[in-house]
Amino acid sequence: MRHQVKKRFGQHFLVDQGVITQIVNSIACQNSDHVIEIGPGMGAMTQLLLDRLDHLSIVEIDRDLIDYWEKQGLSKLTIYGRDVLKFDFSEWFKTTAGPGQHFIVGNLPYNISSPILFHLVQYANQVTGQIFMLQKEVIDRMLSQAGDSEFGRLSVMLQARYDMSLVLDVPPECFDPPPKVDSAVVRMVPKKDFSLSSEEYLALEKIVTQAFSQRRKVLRNNLSSFKNLLGMTEQELGQRAQEITVERYIEWAKAWAISHKNADQ
Ligand code: SAM
Repeated sequence: MRHQVKKRFGQHFLVDQGVITQIVNSIACQNSDHVIEIGPGMGAMTQLLLDRLDHLSIVEIDRDLIDYWEKQGLSKLTIYGRDVLKFDFSEWFKTTAGPGQHFIVGNLPYNISSPILFHLVQYANQVTGQIFMLQKEVIDRMLSQAGDSEFGRLSVMLQARYDMSLVLDVPPECFDPPPKVDSAVVRMVPKKDFSLSSEEYLALEKIVTQAFSQRRKVLRNNLSSFKNLLGMTEQELGQRAQEITVERYIEWAKAWAISHKNADQ
């Protein structure tokens, strides 16, 4: 099929077979596992996944591509013709209940990659792992540590929930059309010892958003309305948001949630 590339859907199709094989190998799935691919496009990874799995699900927004997949009439394939940002993954978990690991994979549309990552956090307790191609710069932010210049909201919120590692770097010429930026693949495994309640994770989001609202300012300014609730030290009040570790943000989120619970009682 000839496909008219749609920029608004972030369409850059993978054409390098070596890279495609490396990504699919890195998922390390068994044939009976449950895999859902976000944005299959013309099937660069989809074909290989179909070869290796008993069943595969896909979520795609582009009507032309949905038609293309429907016309293939593949009994092994479940097609969700939806916007992934509005897709309730519980629907998929319900149909794939029972034995088998659950993986979410994809070469994501870069224009909405952070919203997709945040949308998926709510399903992390049901997921075995996620493998995503993203803009390299976004992965650098996801993996950066306190003190690094890229350390920010994305780093804290995702490191609190997942163990993450770089799988491989992918240059623009591996795509058609080539993107203007470098790409990379990241593995995200939900933390086994994740202990935040949904209230505490929401508190973390509030604190982190506020802390990084003005990156150059110290926390005495950015967190002035929170500082008594969080038990911040004098030294911390004089630091900037990017100097505080993920573990310390988590302690603050727990303290904030407790103080709100007490206030409600
Ligand atoms: N997987 C294919 C590949 O590697 O060649 C295509 C990857 S392309 C970067 C992104 C894919 O995500 C496209 O198929 C695009 O139509 C789809 N997409 C874009 N926005 C989407 C959304 N909101 N929901 C679901 N799919 C989306």
